[in-house]
Amino acid sequence: MTVWAYRLGRVLLSAALLASALAAQAAAQAARREVAVTFDDLPAPQGDLEDMRRITSRLLESVKRNGVPAVGFVNEGKLYRRGETDARTELLRAWLDAGLELGNHTFSHLNLQRAPLEEYKDDVLRGETVTRMLLRERGLRLRYFRHPFLFTGTTPEYKKGLAEFLAARGYAVAPVTIDNADYIFADVYLRAKKRGDAETAKRVADAYVPYMESAFEHFERLSSETFGREIKHVLLLHANEINADRFDELAAMMKRRGYTFVTLEEALKDPAYLEPDALYKNGISWLHRWRMAKGLPVKWEPEVPKFLGELYKAGRSGN
Ligand SMILES: [Zn+2]
Repeated sequence: MTVWAYRLGRVLLSAALLASALAAQAAAQAARREVAVTFDDLPAPQGDLEDMRRITSRLLESVKRNGVPAVGFVNEGKLYRRGETDARTELLRAWLDAGLELGNHTFSHLNLQRAPLEEYKDDVLRGETVTRMLLRERGLRLRYFRHPFLFTGTTPEYKKGLAEFLAARGYAVAPVTIDNADYIFADVYLRAKKRGDAETAKRVADAYVPYMESAFEHFERLSSETFGREIKHVLLLHANEINADRFDELAAMMKRRGYTFVTLEEALKDPAYLEPDALYKNGISWLHRWRMAKGLPVKWEPEVPKFLGELYKAGRSGN
């Protein structure tokens, strides 16, 4: 080997070493990602008792298989159907049997924008009864609250009054950083399945995880831009049909992006959750609220695919 070739070889070798060092660094950064997974609208936002049973068993199998310490947020109003209350309550027990935790999501999934604070407080209290009993059976305490629609207040007074009420009642609020529209996918997906339209169901399901990955990318970037680092995220999902069928793939996507699944308690230890969150009338990610409070520009997350938005609208209007 000539000296020249030797030197070139050295240069190439060090370039390769540098590239692999950078790749290792990127992987290490990625490997530090953490997310707490939460599911809203338990026992399930969709369908009849049979649908709820199918959704619950499939979803919990997948959540267990992937080692995800999830929290499920309950609307106890969904338990009271004539002759089905026990069966529906059993679906909540299944979450606890799976080693997961339950929180309060109000009794009736109340819309805060249409309810005075006193009415809202009543709905919070009414939503505790069964969940508290089920947790107590296992020596657990009801400690988390998730606002329906992520609506936290219409005025500064309402927001403050509700926050104080929840804290006095012993609740920690469960914020959301990775917000998304899984419910739109779930709605179109279940409708397609029920009418035997396998082609549409598959098209919707195949678009689901790529869409969710685009939401993750967005909020990871927003986290870095806002805090100079990636915070411990809280993901909002619903206990619905598409998650029951596709949670394995969703979990694989998260793992591929370097996430480990942590408890909500662990995620909330991130100091980001102590930041002031701006008052905003609609339900949005806490990353947007924190940015607003800091006077930073809002950068909205990607929308659902156009075909899906159109199918959703058509389905909602009964067409
Ligand atoms: Zn909800």
